[in-house]
Amino acid sequence: MSRKTEQTVIIGGGVIGAMCAWYLQQAGQQVTILDRDRLGAACSHGNCGYVSPSHVLPLTQPGMVRKALRSMLSSNSPFYVKPRLSLDLWSWLFKFARRCNERDMLEAADSIHRLLQSARQLYIDLIESQKLDCEWQPIGLLFVFHDAHEFHEYEPTNRMLEKKYGVSARPIDGGELTKFEPALIPGLGGAWYYDCDSHLRPDKLMSELRRILLRDGVKIVENCEVTGFREVAGKAVAVETKTQGEIPADRFVVACGALTPFLNQHLGCRIPIQPGKGYSLTMPRPASCPTYPLIFEQHRVAITPMNSGYRIGSTMEFAGYDSSINQSRLQLLMDSAKLYLREPLGEPVQETWYGWRPMTWDSKPYLDRAPKFENVWVAAGHNMLGLSMATVTGKLIAELLTGQQPHLDLRPLRIGR
Ligand SMILES: Cc1cc2nc3c(=O)[nH]c(=O)nc-3n(C[C@H](O)[C@H](O)[C@H](O)COP(=O)(O)OP(=O)(O)OC[C@H]3O[C@@H](n4cnc5c(N)ncnc54)[C@H](O)[C@@H]3O)c2cc1C
Repeated sequence: MSRKTEQTVIIGGGVIGAMCAWYLQQAGQQVTILDRDRLGAACSHGNCGYVSPSHVLPLTQPGMVRKALRSMLSSNSPFYVKPRLSLDLWSWLFKFARRCNERDMLEAADSIHRLLQSARQLYIDLIESQKLDCEWQPIGLLFVFHDAHEFHEYEPTNRMLEKKYGVSARPIDGGELTKFEPALIPGLGGAWYYDCDSHLRPDKLMSELRRILLRDGVKIVENCEVTGFREVAGKAVAVETKTQGEIPADRFVVACGALTPFLNQHLGCRIPIQPGKGYSLTMPRPASCPTYPLIFEQHRVAITPMNSGYRIGSTMEFAGYDSSINQSRLQLLMDSAKLYLREPLGEPVQETWYGWRPMTWDSKPYLDRAPKFENVWVAAGHNMLGLSMATVTGKLIAELLTGQQPHLDLRPLRIGR
């Protein structure tokens, strides 16, 4: 008699849920993705598309508290915390503040580095083996500084990243910069070039994932919001949904991004994620389009030159689950781009977008079993690096659910840490 194939339900069809589905399906599981909206329509849609092994350092760095406090006074700051009465927010900020020291920064960086390194290779394998048409460009990234002293001040960080993690950048001083990237204006401070980074078009990646998932038998159910679990003797036997009644399965993966805390009560644990709102503007490529993705660190702006378009993105706003598009934030992005680029905008703007990054107070995701259940896992809280970490998250979840030894140490990513 043939053995019954294990049924896995994934709650959330962002890049994390989709990659979990892919690796689980490859491991022989029958997989269904449930999404309250459409696959890939939330934070995984309009992000900047960087797959960045260079982004080793967490947000919790020495000096960050001072920056955050200053920014609370200015709603026009690229990093903004809207002061409000919320126990969850203040407890999150308190824990965040306590992590802003050298030791905790490096503790988080160790985990982030391992995840990013593995993720990068898995991306290469996946894109090549499945011939994904997602505008993948493994050409590196430029970290551009407006002022020369800020450019030079980055040197010790670069040295430390090279020594500890083998991730290093090449300095390009202000005089050389426009030769390297002619789209930049003359007179900037300088840039650091990370050749290990790649970028892609996130919405195309999500369409391609949909294509290969459906081709290989994964079921995708959209407009299907999960509201809880039916439990029997410490096991979840089904999810309860708003539109489709109960959906039974053997195992469940919660990959709801910034919305994960809405399931906390049902999971029987606290997953302290705050939505960190960011924006992007997508337009046709300007005539003088950059070759390289560019990060303007002093203004917290990122530029993504894609084959089929051009994107300006970023800003970080802790304002709860606010779904409004704040025009002054978009203006801030465009004004900042003008300080660096010859031709900062393409015409017309085709999409203005916001996404809630799933922010954790220690910059590490949660990858663990929910303590209340034998058979429910959480894969959420990927902060600013969910796209970069999606492949490795999917692989690790597949390893956990199929009883294999995970290829990375998952202790730093436990729930309740
Ligand atoms: C401006 C901006 C730029 C960024 N740039 C980059 C970048 O360059 N590189 C990078 O690595 N990362 C980047 N990020 C971060 C990245 O976009 C996120 O970390 C990532 O998309 C998170 O993926 P996710 O699958 O966890 O969440 P999401 O994409 O938000 O997916 C979660 C899904 O769960 C569904 N869902 C939620 N609750 C339920 C429920 N109860 N029932 C059913 N479905 C549910 C939602 O509908 C959604 O589709 C950026 C983010 C922003 C905002």
